[in-house]
Amino acid sequence: GLEVHFPIKRGLLMDRTVGHVRAVDGVDLTVARGQTYGLVGESGCGKSTLGRALLRLEEPTAGRVLFDGIDVGALKPEALRKLRPRMQMVFQDPLSSLDPRQSVESLLVEPLRVHGLSAQDRDEYGKDSAASYLAKAAAMLEVVGLPRSAMSRYPHEFSGGQRQRIGIARAIVLNPDLVIADEPVSALDVSVQAQVINLLEDLQDLLGLTYLVIAHDLAVVRHISDTVGVMYLGRLVEEAPSDRLYERPLHPYTIALMSAIPIPDPEVEDRRERILLRGDLPSPANPPSGCRFHTRCPYRQPTRCDTEVPELRELPGVDEAQPGGRTHRVACHWAEEIANGRITVNDPGL
Ligand code: SF4
Ligand code: MG
Repeated sequence: GLEVHFPIKRGLLMDRTVGHVRAVDGVDLTVARGQTYGLVGESGCGKSTLGRALLRLEEPTAGRVLFDGIDVGALKPEALRKLRPRMQMVFQDPLSSLDPRQSVESLLVEPLRVHGLSAQDRDEYGKDSAASYLAKAAAMLEVVGLPRSAMSRYPHEFSGGQRQRIGIARAIVLNPDLVIADEPVSALDVSVQAQVINLLEDLQDLLGLTYLVIAHDLAVVRHISDTVGVMYLGRLVEEAPSDRLYERPLHPYTIALMSAIPIPDPEVEDRRERILLRGDLPSPANPPSGCRFHTRCPYRQPTRCDTEVPELRELPGVDEAQPGGRTHRVACHWAEEIANGRITVNDPGL
């Protein structure tokens, strides 16, 4: 039930609240331990705000965040500070998230100075001391594939991919359980993106990490994700085990996003229905009534789509639950009809 609403301020003193941006507007999701949840949507759909709210870098307006059974929103500052090392973030643009005046050594040692070594590191590197911080920092550099000589250098001396490796090393130096990676590769060259995604996967195996990976591109999260959730205007519109979602997207918005991904093999005939998304994302300050996607949906059926909010629900008979319990959930009134071909794209202009 997570909601994050931002007040829109007006007036000379910006003291008048004229409305709210409903960045996250009633989202329920579960990230399973040791797995990767891929969260996808256009920019402005609320996915970054959701990620920040999970770490309480943003205060939720309503709803709860439970981390390993702990109600994060109820924690007092000191308890939250103690929890911080267990939940870390990797940002889109390492150049702006890494302080350019700090050497790599100081970037990696700083979190250790603030929070201290974890219990398991105290065994390995000795007690909290400058020497053990350095040893831990050097070990993290090695884990992300950078030489020890990188310690004395500065962020601008590295390529984009190497900088993201440093950002990842900084996120994992405290032995977190959960890493939220917000667009971790979208600032990188396509040739480097796969290397960073592969690194994240290797680290997950090595360190038992749990990931929430945020991306605007379905192709990026495909191979790394166990579960994928698709957001539109502050709400989750579809969620499924990754394979299932890519084989058979059921929400018109997901179908549209999917039809924008090129099929890389020229031998494979592309028989997918082409759907182009019309127009821009409507304002989250004033989302459309009923189904929020109705202003852009090529399957829109008058009245019901415009007036009634579709709940996220399973579709028995269309897509059965998977072994292991993860189900396919869709927020569309007509998902069954669309899946069975009884409703087709009805806009002759498309
Ligand atoms: Fe489209 Fe209606 Fe389904 Fe919304 S509920 S996605 S407008 S068909
Ligand atoms: Mg974002």
